[in-house]
Amino acid sequence: MSHWIFTEEHKMFRKSVQKYLEKELSPYVEEWEKAGRIPGSFYEQLSKMGYIGISSPEEYGGNHADLVTEAVFLEELGKYGTGGIAASISYHLMSLALLSSFGSEEQKRNDLSKAISGEKIATLALHELAVGSKELKDTELRAVQDGDDYLLNGKKKFVINGGSSDFICVTAITDPSKGLDGTSLFIIDRESSHVTIDRKIKKLGWRASETVDLSFNNVKVSKDAVVGEVNEANSYLEKSTQWFQVIQALLSIGVAEKSLEDTIRYSKERKQFGKTINHFQVLQHKMADMAVELEKSRNLTYRALYLLNEGEDAAVESAMAKAFAGEMVKQVADSAVQIHGGMGYMMETPVQRYWRDARGMSIIGGTTEQLHGMISKFLETGPARKDAEYSKSL
Ligand SMILES: Cc1cc2nc3c(=O)[nH]c(=O)nc-3n(C[C@H](O)[C@H](O)[C@H](O)COP(=O)(O)OP(=O)(O)OC[C@H]3O[C@@H](n4cnc5c(N)ncnc54)[C@H](O)[C@@H]3O)c2cc1C
Repeated sequence: MSHWIFTEEHKMFRKSVQKYLEKELSPYVEEWEKAGRIPGSFYEQLSKMGYIGISSPEEYGGNHADLVTEAVFLEELGKYGTGGIAASISYHLMSLALLSSFGSEEQKRNDLSKAISGEKIATLALHELAVGSKELKDTELRAVQDGDDYLLNGKKKFVINGGSSDFICVTAITDPSKGLDGTSLFIIDRESSHVTIDRKIKKLGWRASETVDLSFNNVKVSKDAVVGEVNEANSYLEKSTQWFQVIQALLSIGVAEKSLEDTIRYSKERKQFGKTINHFQVLQHKMADMAVELEKSRNLTYRALYLLNEGEDAAVESAMAKAFAGEMVKQVADSAVQIHGGMGYMMETPVQRYWRDARGMSIIGGTTEQLHGMISKFLETGPARKDAEYSKSL
């Protein structure tokens, strides 16, 4: 993809990622979708290629590259792995990002380094602490201090990698009187802490990402399991959310790229009325629309990525990027199914999967409506970054 944000090095990296994923991932996508999970060995393979922990510190096995390099990998992962595989890997990577930024030295040596090497699989269980919500519900996970330990009780919903992960980064309420500012982030060894799986969930899409509901019944963890400071989870998540939203936008872009690519190819093969269907102007325009929407999404996302890579605040831009990409990919994947005609509706044709995977993109990790709510709040209160364009109109 040609865009000013990418240097020659990024472009070369993209080519090598594409080559690798085409050979080592594409042939297995259907198998892993059917199995409902991806094999642990794939994390190790990705790690050997240097694709896990791209922007993580070198002393823990990362490559300490810039976020743009990591973004190149994520976009291609979205394209070749579409929803499910990309989701599993990205939740692993988001957990790494939290540990890299806020973990203790011991957590980095023990967990971060093993997650980067692919020995351990990580995930993030936040749900019930919805972005933007300031209400505490009775069902939210609570952690009560008991001497040098914490006892956790409650549930987490819809946890990707929840059944296959070695450790879970989980938010729990440690001070109910403070609302969201009374939540802490814990890193929990799933098996030894006896976190139980309530149910495995069947989903419309993202099928290769094993998704479960988890129960914490008197789960005892040492106070060393707190990531960073007690009661700081909300501030850590606020800082990390911008990158997480960009990650999710990149995955949507990847799925949309694949949808368009397959559609262009099919339109050159399928003949109707004596000519291939790419000669029908109505379909040409539909494909042009797909390309324009995709390009708009790329520009919004790369803008947010640029700011984050420069160490700038991108709260509005990353929310816009995720919101737009989540809607864009549904539209693009839907057009892909339409242009494939009857074949697009058949389970043997990959576009049906892109369409199912695309549907989750405007929900998971914050719905479009929640994101629009955040954007409008930023418009009212003004930006953290003084030179943001929209501030000029306030
Ligand atoms: C397949 C899948 C995997 C997931 N994996 C994970 C995971 O690994 N870890 C994790 O932590 N979470 C995970 N989630 C949770 C996901 O992030 C939430 O489902 C998502 O944030 C939406 O929250 P909700 O389901 O509670 O919807 P609700 O909040 O109940 O939303 C219902 C409706 O109300 C609207 N709404 C809600 N709040 C507002 C608002 N403030 N303003 C306007 N409209 C609003 C929504 O847009 C939506 O239309 C996963 C979800 C799915 C479907």
